[in-house]
Amino acid sequence: MSEFDVVVLGGGAAGANAALAAASTGLNVALFDENPSAGGQVYRAPIDGPGAGIDAGSSADQQAGDALRRELAASTVTTFFAHPVWAVTGEYRVDATGPHGPVHCSARALIVASGTTERVVPFEGWTTPGVIGLAAATILLKSQGMLPGRSTLVAGCGPLLAAVAAKTIEGGGKVEAIADLAGTADWARTVPALLARPDLLWQGAKWWRTIRRAGTPRLARHMIVRVEPAGERLRATLAPCEAAGHPIDGKQTTVLVDCVAVGHGLTPSTEITRLLRARHVYSRTAGGWVAVADQDGRTSRPLLYVAGDGAGIAGAAAAATHGVLAGLACALDLGASNPSRLKRRAELARKAHRQAARFGHAMAKLMALRTGHVDSIAPDTIVCRCEDVTRAEIDAACEAGAQEVNQLKAWTRCGMGPCQGRTCGDVAGELLMRRVGAASRESVGCFSARTPLRPVEVEALTGEFTYDDIPIPKAAPL
Ligand SMILES: Cc1cc2nc3c(=O)[nH]c(=O)nc-3n(C[C@H](O)[C@H](O)[C@H](O)COP(=O)(O)OP(=O)(O)OC[C@H]3O[C@@H](n4cnc5c(N)ncnc54)[C@H](O)[C@@H]3O)c2cc1C
Repeated sequence: MSEFDVVVLGGGAAGANAALAAASTGLNVALFDENPSAGGQVYRAPIDGPGAGIDAGSSADQQAGDALRRELAASTVTTFFAHPVWAVTGEYRVDATGPHGPVHCSARALIVASGTTERVVPFEGWTTPGVIGLAAATILLKSQGMLPGRSTLVAGCGPLLAAVAAKTIEGGGKVEAIADLAGTADWARTVPALLARPDLLWQGAKWWRTIRRAGTPRLARHMIVRVEPAGERLRATLAPCEAAGHPIDGKQTTVLVDCVAVGHGLTPSTEITRLLRARHVYSRTAGGWVAVADQDGRTSRPLLYVAGDGAGIAGAAAAATHGVLAGLACALDLGASNPSRLKRRAELARKAHRQAARFGHAMAKLMALRTGHVDSIAPDTIVCRCEDVTRAEIDAACEAGAQEVNQLKAWTRCGMGPCQGRTCGDVAGELLMRRVGAASRESVGCFSARTPLRPVEVEALTGEFTYDDIPIPKAAPL
């Protein structure tokens, strides 16, 4: 088993910068990511293949990603790309599988920069083929160079609405409509934070110019209530909604499309810090459950750090500065030489982080889970798509006495499938809290994290063996 001073989990903006910062102090650092190269969600590298050719990523993101990948390649960081990490155990052993078999390593410190998971608040027909996540659509566009559909409905909330719509149009697709949960007044409240990032404001203005030129209508304060197959296409029904996300009486609209790209925000990926039993709190504006941490990412467990959106949604620029802070904090705690120089570096990074996070926090607030939206989920709608658990089954478990989400999980199998509750966990917890009248999300808890964190083939763990290799103990004397 290889030994390192620090293992960083996640090669996005946060993880890559954390690894570079820690390695720059002379520490022996390893970086794991399941993607084939560094960059994470925003700075992901395009792949060669069918459909490649749409220049769907912003060139600034592409250049930033290329620069990050070059910096990593020139550094002393040992990288394990295409290595999904399936287990992390206390102080600190990391187990991953890779193209050449299983990899195990140990480290004195662990920095978790595992990013986010997309949230979709279920509606009738959301599991129909052709309905995909809004954030997932950015992967298709950026990485595969493919359109989500020839004609697409873009729905949900947050900045990805405009990003996906504009990139789809630029790639030659048609966007039939954009259904935005937020109203114009909600966006207006974000303007002061937007002004702090003129580059992003400019990028947003360019996206909206593309959308307007294409004649795509934006329906403010609208939500999808139903998607159903219509021959080879999908019929989506949209309804007006109030600020909390509850549909209201008004004119419903239907659109016929090939693809529905829908997303209702992002939730921090906390399965590793939950597995390691760090302390967590629920923060609606940070996207959901987050590990309790100081401003440099130190959690409640010694030498365990969090960085980036996995520590609370704040966007890619803030993820990068947060990564630097976690890397430096880790180096200081491991006794790196010249601490006063590192502290000065951290002070500069903190200032940059505060500035970068302002924009991200405003966007996270816009994408926060809306209570009325969750209340409006119909009884026969599937909430846990891995195990086909409906809202009615969740309500029945609450009636039968479930008070905590792990009881709900044990009684209904909600959150017990291959995604380990990453997709349904936030909505299931909200449904339970509201149904039992609990005072807070903390009082109904969050799903316990379990290994394997990622689906893993048993063959990949055992390696090649014959039955003769299995040690059979001698029969016990009678
Ligand atoms: C699908 C998706 C698409 C998005 N697209 C955009 C976009 O186009 N523009 C934008 O501004 N924001 C986008 N976002 C938001 C964006 O992710 C963040 O703001 C930003 O990437 C945060 O950087 P990060 O380093 O914290 O996380 P990320 O960039 O998400 O990096 C986390 C990395 O950890 C890796 N990882 C996590 N768990 C494991 C594991 N168990 N084993 C191995 N590797 C693991 C992931 O593969 C990922 O590369 C998207 C989010 C999602 C979920």
